[in-house]
Amino acid sequence: MTKNLAKIAKQKKIKYFLISFVDLFGVLRSKLVPSQAISEMQKNGAGFAGFATWLDMTPADTDMFAIPDPNSLIQLPWNKEVGWLASDLIMNGKPVKASPRVMLKDQIKQLSKKNLKMKSGVECEYFLINQDGSGIADQRDIQSKPCYDQSALMRRYDLIKEICDCMIEMGWGPYQNDHEDANGQFEMNWNYDDCLVTADRHVFFKYMVKSLAEKHGLRATFMPKPFENLTGNGCHSHVSLWSEKSNRFLDNGDRYGLSRLAYNFLGGIMKIAQPLSAFFNPTINSYRRINAPPTKSGASWSPSSISYSGNNRTHMIRIPDPGRFELRLMDGSANPYLLQVGVISAGLYGINNKSDPGEPLNCNMYTEYKNYQNLKKLPDEIEDAIDYLEDSKEIKDSFGEDVINSYIKLKRQEIDEFNRTDRFDKKAPISEWEKNNTLDC
Ligand SMILES: [Mg+2]
Repeated sequence: MTKNLAKIAKQKKIKYFLISFVDLFGVLRSKLVPSQAISEMQKNGAGFAGFATWLDMTPADTDMFAIPDPNSLIQLPWNKEVGWLASDLIMNGKPVKASPRVMLKDQIKQLSKKNLKMKSGVECEYFLINQDGSGIADQRDIQSKPCYDQSALMRRYDLIKEICDCMIEMGWGPYQNDHEDANGQFEMNWNYDDCLVTADRHVFFKYMVKSLAEKHGLRATFMPKPFENLTGNGCHSHVSLWSEKSNRFLDNGDRYGLSRLAYNFLGGIMKIAQPLSAFFNPTINSYRRINAPPTKSGASWSPSSISYSGNNRTHMIRIPDPGRFELRLMDGSANPYLLQVGVISAGLYGINNKSDPGEPLNCNMYTEYKNYQNLKKLPDEIEDAIDYLEDSKEIKDSFGEDVINSYIKLKRQEIDEFNRTDRFDKKAPISEWEKNNTLDC
């Protein structure tokens, strides 16, 4: 039975609801609705002008409505008066095809036709920086190899603990927090779940971290590469496919513990990785993180070539444990829904076409890349990724051609705007345009 939000508001003393959605560029948008109005909104949705968001609509288009999903409700642990809701967009009574959450539900439906569902986890790295984005917040965090630095981690104890306490309260099952490989960089991990649950939590996590950092006088950024000499913000994703309670990626007879289905899924991702970069690495700044030279710590921890391996972090795909693999391509600017959409659609392509990923590589790809010149390379800049996307029949077939054309149009507008004042140059310092447009991604 559908949950009654008005009733829940009374029980939990929620005074306001944030009815929110994410557009094609991953921007989180909301209306703040008093609980007295939530019954009507639950039925008919909150109205928005689509043109005012990144959805390729016109000012003449009729209103679109965000229909909240009551199962996504989160009572803000730091402000119990407010309940957050993820929504699906409709227009003229029909789902908006370019609504990323609607797109993910479509892909989930495709998987369910094969009696499969995807479980996933995401590792969201972020920096704590000063207000103008010119540097990291902690002036004492200067080690050249700062990963897991206990003192730097504990200087942020108040904030990290508050975020982790929130995750415990929300039932996400957080299990570790650490200082990451760049000065000022952190990561917090919580349990994997069904991919729609993970995508909603991913959206909320970014909002929560930014909000609580502000409360502590700090600023958090998920920007892929805010500092050219430091390791960037990845958003690695772990995936597995399940039928009911059985992990269909698991095969204990295989050297890495993966089934044929898993290798086909993985093979599909390798085949379509170049155009998928347009979603996994969607910003101009993203391309400072991939194909990057070593950073101050000694490694960029991000891929350059399309390869897979066992438990080896220098490749695009790593198999850390039996029954799942980790995709290391995505960065902090990836749209949480389109990230999952991209994985499922490429994986389904791989299953349907029995894609063979070939033999895994076990070399150190950061130092031995010259011996593997035949491997396909990841795009060098966003324009290349968009060109690959334009030529990708596989993605157009899977995502829908209209949505892809809209995305390409909006991205090219953005690139033109950037090119009017700047040139993308990985060796040059990060531009003001990149900071102004990506620090709050
Ligand atoms: Mg990490």
